Amino acid sequence: MAKLNITVNKARCVGSGDCVETAPGVFQMDGDEKSEAYNPAGAADNVILAAARACPVKAITVVDADSGTQLFPAPKK
Ligand code: SF4
Repeated sequence: MAKLNITVNKARCVGSGDCVETAPGVFQMDGDEKSEAYNPAGAADNVILAAARACPVKAITVVDADSGTQLFPAPKK
């Protein structure tokens, strides 16, 4: 399992909770009803990517910490 850097753009997050529902071991809601990635190693990579895809406003960015490759959203060419 790759080490992932997961960031939530809190300015964009609308608090839908989809990411928490998909990967509760990774995401939780903070006190402002925004998501935070409290444990980047809390689920398998494919589950984390599914959570990022589930976000209705694309607030979640997932980067492979070792290679620096952005996994989601797919980088623009
Ligand atoms: S799915 Fe997106 S909008 Fe919904 S809580 Fe998670 S980061 Fe926020």
